Amino acid sequence: MIPFSPPRIDDRTVKAVEDALRSGWITTGPRTKEFEKRLAEYCGVDKVIALNSWTNACELVLRWYGIGAGDEVIVPAYTYCATANIVMHVGAKPVMVDVLDDFTMDPDALRKAITPRTKCIIPVDIGGLPCRIDRIMRVAVETCHLFTPAVNLRVAGSNPQMRLGRALVLCDAAHSFGARIEGKPVGAQADITGFSFHAVKNLTTAEGGALAFNLPEPFDTDELYRYLNTMSLHGQSKDALAKTRPGAWRYDVDFPGWKCNMTDLQAAIGLVELDRFDNDTTPRRKAICERYHAAFRNDPRFIVPHFKDEMRESCYHLYMLRIANAAEAQRDGIITAIAEREVSVNVHFIPLPLLSYYKGQGFRMDDYPNTYTLFSNEISLPVYYDLTDAQVDEVIAAVKAAVAKVMG
Ligand SMILES: *Cc1c(COP(=O)(O)O)cnc(C)c1O
Repeated sequence: MIPFSPPRIDDRTVKAVEDALRSGWITTGPRTKEFEKRLAEYCGVDKVIALNSWTNACELVLRWYGIGAGDEVIVPAYTYCATANIVMHVGAKPVMVDVLDDFTMDPDALRKAITPRTKCIIPVDIGGLPCRIDRIMRVAVETCHLFTPAVNLRVAGSNPQMRLGRALVLCDAAHSFGARIEGKPVGAQADITGFSFHAVKNLTTAEGGALAFNLPEPFDTDELYRYLNTMSLHGQSKDALAKTRPGAWRYDVDFPGWKCNMTDLQAAIGLVELDRFDNDTTPRRKAICERYHAAFRNDPRFIVPHFKDEMRESCYHLYMLRIANAAEAQRDGIITAIAEREVSVNVHFIPLPLLSYYKGQGFRMDDYPNTYTLFSNEISLPVYYDLTDAQVDEVIAAVKAAVAKVMG
């Protein structure tokens, strides 16, 4: 059986976690701080905060920016539910827009969707290919005259909506750690970028996430880091590490915060992952994608994913293959036939308007035709470090046989 995306766990990972366990410090501590520092260096930003998931990290961002009832947050219809769920959590309204042929948010559709209620835009780097963040940032800046900041919002002595004066761009980079835009890693383009280190992602800490800050002047990144750190620990003025100094026991609670810090056990895995990310993990993923490309690129029955252009390069997280002219039921039949050959594939993603909850909120699939077309014939193939060339060839054979069987 070929699984879809097992994590890369080897002796080095196990040793790093063992060392963390034996160090006596298992919650947020020196390894988390080191991981944050390394992530910031990697992304080319001043500061990164590591937390327990993309979902909680990005939800804190919406709360920090004062987003709530009456506000709108624009998301693509083509994404994982987490992107829109966090908008529901804070009581705001997700507004969905369609995507381009490369699966990422359509900047023209975005422009049309902006209203005086728009407080945030969450584009998604699906499969590891960065969205057109240059165009999305431009839309945010050029529509600032519509932006209506909340007047009575105060966060750590200032009003972030007044300061920014436009919709916040929060990039969903859950798939795109290590992808590049004009040669630079994802993280330093949007106002804030959210990464996921969930077990299936291309860099993992079992569960985990991080935020890279890139807000313009006069935002103070150190202050923002401290504020989000406090938010992630019950609004408590001192974290566990700061309280370990003898005598430093007293703390205060500034507001009723949340609880979503990263542990040093997670960071220990992340440090190993990061250390071999550029020179080992990503080259292997890229080689797998190139092997798939060689098999499918010149076959008219397939539409291969977009990995690279003058501006962007994917981190090769997913191989999102499309079956030319396949209807949704045919695609489903192809997946069944592939599964019969003991190969696990996946679909990224069921569009939000097709999920019961969002359907119930009044979203209609017909309003996002490109999203539906892309989804209806998409199949994601296995891509992970331990997948051998022979297994890649098995996947290719299973896919081709299944397509021949179903499509004739
Ligand atoms: C995985 C994923 C998330 C959520 O990440 P968690 O770390 O599990 O919270 C968000 N957006 C997309 C596109 C994802 O694939």
